[in-house]
Amino acid sequence: MSIRLYNTLTRRKEDFEPREPGKVAMYVCGPTVYNHIHIGNGRTFLTFDVIRRYLIWRGFEVRFVQNITDVDDKIINRANEEERPAAEVAEVYTAAFRKAMEDFGIERPTVQPMATAMIEPMIGMVNRLIENGHAYVVDGDVYFSVRSFPEYGKLSGRDIDDLLSGARVDVDSRKQDPLDFALWKAAKPGEPHWTSPWGEGRPGWHLECSVMSEAELGVPFDIHGGGSDLVFPHHENEIAQSEAATGQPFARYWLHGGMLQINAEKMSKSLGNFMLLRDVLAQYPTPVVRLLMLQTHYRSPLDFSSDRLDEAVTAYERILNLVRNLRWVRTAEASGDGALESARTALAAALEEARAKFVSEMDDDFNTAGAIAGVFELGRAANAFLSENQSDLAAVDRESLLEAESLVVELLGVLGIDVPDADDDGEELPPDVVELARQLTGYEGSDSAAAIRALLAARSVARTEKNWAAADAVRDGLLLIGITIEDTPQGPRVNYRPRG
Ligand code: AMP
Ligand code: ZN
Repeated sequence: MSIRLYNTLTRRKEDFEPREPGKVAMYVCGPTVYNHIHIGNGRTFLTFDVIRRYLIWRGFEVRFVQNITDVDDKIINRANEEERPAAEVAEVYTAAFRKAMEDFGIERPTVQPMATAMIEPMIGMVNRLIENGHAYVVDGDVYFSVRSFPEYGKLSGRDIDDLLSGARVDVDSRKQDPLDFALWKAAKPGEPHWTSPWGEGRPGWHLECSVMSEAELGVPFDIHGGGSDLVFPHHENEIAQSEAATGQPFARYWLHGGMLQINAEKMSKSLGNFMLLRDVLAQYPTPVVRLLMLQTHYRSPLDFSSDRLDEAVTAYERILNLVRNLRWVRTAEASGDGALESARTALAAALEEARAKFVSEMDDDFNTAGAIAGVFELGRAANAFLSENQSDLAAVDRESLLEAESLVVELLGVLGIDVPDADDDGEELPPDVVELARQLTGYEGSDSAAAIRALLAARSVARTEKNWAAADAVRDGLLLIGITIEDTPQGPRVNYRPRG
């Protein structure tokens, strides 16, 4: 079975066959660094992070290139507003972008070129286009002539004549056609500039992606990604420039992510309806935000709301509880007669089914929502098996449950939804447990896992001494903060179910 993906260029799902077996060359448009990124941008970057992680998990070697636009009108405007150099604005927000990506669990690109480090090859591409008649110079500006590229419009499915007749008459009468776009812009006084054959100036935005992808990946490369708002004109222009310059196809598969919206309206800086990724991550753990976003197919619009965040909190807690329950099995004795054969078969089937479903859903145009649903199904099966058989586990049952645990962790890990290691497990317990241990046992540390152990030890001592009041104080105190103790033949077992 091969991976199938929806290609915007052909408007259908296709089998994915990279140009070189086992290797994937992909390019995803990066940010313009003039501000902190919002969660809509974050969603698109997440989409391609997950696609990359999945391809790697499926055995591909992935070269992932993403540009940083560090020279642009928006950066210059921002610099003028803040009365500081454009380069400084770009530097500050490049660092902020990298930090936000790291906090959001997004793997670093294999290469992340800055636009300003690639000026020379950009001038080279503009030269090529002028030489072969696809571009023209007017007073230090260079424009791409869309009419010179008959396939213009093939990605967005637009007809060039409709586009031209529909375009509002451009005030810039220096252009031959209103849709012609700038490859190179003459610098105004005070703007960042580089020396070129056409005078001092700077590159146009579309140009850099064409140049960087070709330089880092060669053409045609395999996957080109971005949000659906980039299809026209940005990606259409990338195709026109690159194919006109090289005479070769540019990218083989075009993948576009749907827009994140608030109240059914696209989140964008210009509409002012945005939430910054860093603000959301300051309030919600990364796995929660990733889980929320990945429960919608990447091409569909995603409605973001605090209700959905709260649902994702609950869903992630279910995962943590599941994993904690299954990990408990590590310390449990396994000397029982074991589960009924039928239950054992059912659990084995659930394990196989979960892996198969994960792969088939992800192979089908990266359906993360279906893949996650499969993991939850395995969770339900494992939980049911555990609660029916926990007092009577045989070694073989224990093995299956631990296999379920590692499969859940592995599959969620492919989506970058991390589950803490057993050693840090205490971090999931509410911090109040430390205070409770302090009051009831004199515990002096600050680690919630150690605090729980102190409380359980105190309860055990109290019970041996038949000091029921002290034992109940521990149980009731824990209950108040959402922790229940279940006494099993293997000893007390802790369950944390946050209330809310
Ligand atoms: P920009 O810095 O505006 O070029 O955006 C960076 C990336 O975020 C691009 O791939 C855009 O398509 C994407 N993007 C912008 N707004 C949204 C949104 N509301 N939802 C999803 N992706 C978005
Ligand atoms: Zn681009």
